[in-house]
Amino acid sequence: MAYRPAANKAYGQTRRKAPVGAAKLQQLASSSVQPSYASRSVMTANAVQSNISSLALFLAKYLSGKNNVVISPDPNSNGYSVGKRKLVNGQIIYDIHVPHWINYKLPLDDKSKYRVYRSGIWHEAGHVAETPDQVFTFGARGDEVKEPLAHDTINILEDRRIEDIGVEKWPGYASERLFTNAYAWTRRMDVGAFWNAYLKMHYDDVNRMYLKDEEYIRERKGHMRHEAFLQRLLVMKIKGWDQLPIDERDLIEHEATMVEHELTKLRKQSPETIYRKLAQLSMQVIKDLELKDYVPEVTHIGESTWDQSFKPHTPTPGESQETRTGIDDYFDQLMTVEVVCSGCGKHYTRKLGVRED
Ligand SMILES: [Zn+2]
Repeated sequence: MAYRPAANKAYGQTRRKAPVGAAKLQQLASSSVQPSYASRSVMTANAVQSNISSLALFLAKYLSGKNNVVISPDPNSNGYSVGKRKLVNGQIIYDIHVPHWINYKLPLDDKSKYRVYRSGIWHEAGHVAETPDQVFTFGARGDEVKEPLAHDTINILEDRRIEDIGVEKWPGYASERLFTNAYAWTRRMDVGAFWNAYLKMHYDDVNRMYLKDEEYIRERKGHMRHEAFLQRLLVMKIKGWDQLPIDERDLIEHEATMVEHELTKLRKQSPETIYRKLAQLSMQVIKDLELKDYVPEVTHIGESTWDQSFKPHTPTPGESQETRTGIDDYFDQLMTVEVVCSGCGKHYTRKLGVRED
């Protein structure tokens, strides 16, 4: 009974006796008290990351239907990827590498950044569920990518295939996929501008042919077609499309339509059949589009040039607004697209989805 009043009294005295003056505050600010604020924010960052990682792990396991999946947030990440690892006990696990949330800068607001992040998990979970093992190592030996063009091309085809399957399985992801595609599109090269700067002067518009057949022209042509094909296959729309000559547009459209058709035939096939067909299709795309002189920058196993759209990117002033406008442009022009039937040549429109923000 006596304890409480005494304690109150002591408390009151202490409070009266030690008001914190300006000098004391100054001293506190420069003393060891300050690092505790810093460590608190590190703790908050870690807590945020562990929440995001645990949601990511739940999503990855749920969407892939596999339990042997781990999430590795990487502060130096280049985007999203998945690899297979063997643990010391012999167990095989899928290791999904994601950017570290706090360090992951994109020219987007936080909500949109989270949508891109979540779609990254969805995409990698799709690889875990669907991608045959041999696809990861196509054009590679050991941990080294030996044939970047082959490795890249098969991964581009596979990215389209797994995302198509992903939205069939999870229709609610259609709008997320579309939003992520819209963002990725803002990060891609303007194919029309590339054409005007590096190829137009080597092209005869009247006879619709290239003036010379030299390696540097073939390399540029390969670069342009590779990017146009990637954009057409993965985001359904090519930046600067209207700047390209009609023969180039037709070539890309025809090839992409052929690939789309072949990919739909692979539903429910065995991994071995899927791999063989993807390998054969990749080599056919390289041949038909004459890509062989172009070497894409792909160094990691399982990486495609598409993944580069999701690299961390610190926005310059005004870039977030530009990105927002780019996403709006993508949606404005893309909700219904004009396509040409590769069989009969007829034009028709295809509705791709409904925008949801
Ligand atoms: Zn992928």
